[in-house]
Amino acid sequence: MEIYRRYGIEPIINASGTVTRLGGAGMSTGVVDAWTQAARATVPLDHLQAAASRRIAARCGVEAGLVVGGAAAGLLLGTAAILAGPSLARMEQLPDVHGVTHELIVARAQRNGYDHAVRTAGARLVEVGMDEIAAGSGVRATELWEYEAAIGPQTAGVMYTLTHDSRPHLADVVTLAHHHSLPVLVDAAAQLPPVDNLHTVCQTGADLVVFSGGKALGGPQSTGILCGRRDLIGSAFLQMMDSDERFELWDPPAEFVDRDAFRGLPRQGIGRVIKVAKEEIVALLTALDEFTPTVIEARVNEQLRLLSYIQSQLTPELAETTLEGPPKPTLRIRPAAGWTKRSVTEICQRLRAGAPPIYLGTGALDQGLLTIHPACLDESSIKVLTERLITELT
Ligand SMILES: *Cc1c(COP(=O)(O)O)cnc(C)c1O
Repeated sequence: MEIYRRYGIEPIINASGTVTRLGGAGMSTGVVDAWTQAARATVPLDHLQAAASRRIAARCGVEAGLVVGGAAAGLLLGTAAILAGPSLARMEQLPDVHGVTHELIVARAQRNGYDHAVRTAGARLVEVGMDEIAAGSGVRATELWEYEAAIGPQTAGVMYTLTHDSRPHLADVVTLAHHHSLPVLVDAAAQLPPVDNLHTVCQTGADLVVFSGGKALGGPQSTGILCGRRDLIGSAFLQMMDSDERFELWDPPAEFVDRDAFRGLPRQGIGRVIKVAKEEIVALLTALDEFTPTVIEARVNEQLRLLSYIQSQLTPELAETTLEGPPKPTLRIRPAAGWTKRSVTEICQRLRAGAPPIYLGTGALDQGLLTIHPACLDESSIKVLTERLITELT
């Protein structure tokens, strides 16, 4: 904590969860130790990424994997791999896509700000489908035939954002895409826990899958996992690594690259701007090792206990509370009408303005609800938070 005060910044109580703008989750002692040790020696990064690949492959049930600079970085690199494949010329050319097949089909309802990373690689997103449910008038979301109808000569692949209720199902989209020999890139950034998703998402046959390292995985904020097909991971690897090396001496890991297939080395590629450090790779791998069903079950039970404490302190006169269970325990709070004259937005503002600043989840303010995401809370912060909340609600 003191380290932040040295720079005049007061650490906050974070009830918003592992969001990037609030710095994500704190890392475990094991992860921080791994980081510190890794920072004290140097190793060839390609060998380290090869080791990471073996570890990720085993956990996710895929051919290969890379530690990348966040899930968004994984989307950029995954797209670059789809567009360039093994071609050195195309790696050099991106994000200019002149002469490169460069369209990715995406359900309109799955578009979101993170797909800027896909466009950054040079891809053009071709939207399909309508969400009649969102319109309140119907029952259908995007359908498979709409993906199929959009496939044309410029189609390079399919982009899919995974949530618990994304439609059509990923497995069906993968089957359709593969029928047309197209790869599928999946954004599963925030789909952990459950721990099982590490392999169940990949089991759908998706060619490339992206997970965030700095959310529930508990790794550094600037890490993520890109995993899937070996040839595509190889292309992503080449476009991220610093390859200013003599070709005669170049010894790329067999995990990613068939050296014989290359007549030269790529130059610094599009992924060079999102490089990852050795400490980050080691810390992410340590976090991945710690991310087991037993550890996560204990963590989730602790979160439920913390939320139940707040719930027990908020009497019905103050607020109505609803506790949502695993995989991501969440407490929703509806201030009792009559007690406080403040809107939920005002309550959030006042809690942020106090000392220490408290940041509640704001995802349900429109429904008049305050939200507590417990991922970054502990015993002592929960007490302070509860007291301050009661003051605001009274
Ligand atoms: C958080 C998130 C990302 C970005 O993840 P980073 O690891 O912060 O780069 C991308 N897509 C979705 C859906 C996310 O929730």
